[in-house]
Amino acid sequence: MADKTPFETAREALMRLTARKLPPTPVNYQSVYNEIAGTPNVTAFPDEALRAVARTLPARTPFQKQQKEALERAVGQASWEAVQRVFVGYASLDEPKVDPAGFPASATAELREQIARVVENALPALDADDPRFSQQAAVLIKALRDPSADRTKLKTALTEFSHRLSFAAEDQAEIRSTLLKLLHLIIQNIGEISMDDGWLKRQLDALSTSATPPLTLRRLDDLERRLHDVMRKQIDAKGRTLEAQDEMRKMLATFIERLAQMTESTSTFHNNMEHSARLLEQAKSMDEVSPVLRSVISATRLIATEVKATRDELREMREKVTASEAQIVKLHEELNAATAQARHDALTGALNRKGLDEAMARELADVRRKEVPLCVALLDIDNFKKLNDSKGHDAGDAALNHLVAVTRECMRGQDTLARYGGEEFVILMPDTTMENGIEAMMRLQRALTRQYFLAGNEQILITFSAGVAQFEADETPESAIKRADQAMYLAKRQGRNRVLGA
Ligand code: GH3
Ligand code: MG
Ligand code: MG
Repeated sequence: MADKTPFETAREALMRLTARKLPPTPVNYQSVYNEIAGTPNVTAFPDEALRAVARTLPARTPFQKQQKEALERAVGQASWEAVQRVFVGYASLDEPKVDPAGFPASATAELREQIARVVENALPALDADDPRFSQQAAVLIKALRDPSADRTKLKTALTEFSHRLSFAAEDQAEIRSTLLKLLHLIIQNIGEISMDDGWLKRQLDALSTSATPPLTLRRLDDLERRLHDVMRKQIDAKGRTLEAQDEMRKMLATFIERLAQMTESTSTFHNNMEHSARLLEQAKSMDEVSPVLRSVISATRLIATEVKATRDELREMREKVTASEAQIVKLHEELNAATAQARHDALTGALNRKGLDEAMARELADVRRKEVPLCVALLDIDNFKKLNDSKGHDAGDAALNHLVAVTRECMRGQDTLARYGGEEFVILMPDTTMENGIEAMMRLQRALTRQYFLAGNEQILITFSAGVAQFEADETPESAIKRADQAMYLAKRQGRNRVLGA
């Protein structure tokens, strides 16, 4: 006990171990020693073993490193409590804490903000006419941005929105396919009312082909351009036909008027004759007959003159109608012939597609014979719609002419410029490699920064995006232009006002 010396305690401990038949291990010895000395039996702190464990712990992240150091300190202080804190700390590293609503704690404010933005961005594409859809989205976005929002509610709002979203997406797909059907119907209808026009028919066939899924932005662009052309042609043809039809209508009105007059005078004549016949029946002497006859003769003469005049007038009118009809037919033919024959674009004077096709065939034959490279560039004015919308269509037209003028100044004599579509141009550059073609387009870009387009007094910088392709051996013009077009489109996607090689 307390009065025992450590030596005595040690000796008695050995005796007890023997009496109890316990193996003399350090643990057993310490336990019996403590029992005799009356001290609490606390096992020694296993620093070595714990340090060995600490060495195996990873320290890849700052937090792991911090925990590892804490463990080493805990061992140094022989504190079990501190050791426990470290292991609990490690345990919470990988395991996501889940709150009672089942919402992961990792859904930080940032993640919630990102979800809110996804919902916001998806809305314009999906916002159907269903007001519940926008309401639900608004509720969800608000909850996502409210740090104190109840998580259970947030989860419910997300689930409900996702459910409605799936409906909206289905609706959109349905709407798109119905719109396409409608478009085909319209195209077919336009085709049926203007079947006599070969150019229109070809355009409409191309439209039909463009309007088939899968729809890409590129195809829709093409569709819009073609529809634009078709409409212009229709309006032009319609204007001229209307004039001729108006003439016809006027003539028809005169014709009906004359016919009415004639019927009127013949019925007066008829009445006259009946009256005269009655007078003749009742006549008792030649004296009475004579004035009646005179009146009959004069009435007959009158009607004969009227009939003749009307007949002449009608003949004249018939001739005019026939001439008018012939004129309409001629106008139609002229219009078709003009469209079919034109090689130049009416607005800018650059080659049109037909002109370009011919020029390309010529150049291709030539460069193949000479075995020199041929380059084709496709350029599309940037944000042209905006210019049209803000400055008007006439200013847009003037801008196209400006671009053509600057391009012509920049080009070499052997280069060819064609208007490929609305605000798209093709430049054909013989004896030019792709590098030189790109360089030429960049030269044009620089020229445009020196020569501003003037809309009234306002200086406007016209920029374009372009793709340049060098013809490969035996490559068709369609294929080379398609490659240039794809590069141009990529240039648009990369932010416009740039030139890319195909
Ligand atoms: P992006 O940079 O993507 O090419 O945009 P953008 O606005 O240039 O292209 P978009 O295809 O949206 O618009 C082209 C516009 O060009 C639409 C059409 O009204 C206009 N356009 C086409 N032909 C003519 C024309 O002969 N004269 C005028 N003034 N505008 C035309
Ligand atoms: Mg375009
Ligand atoms: Mg454009």
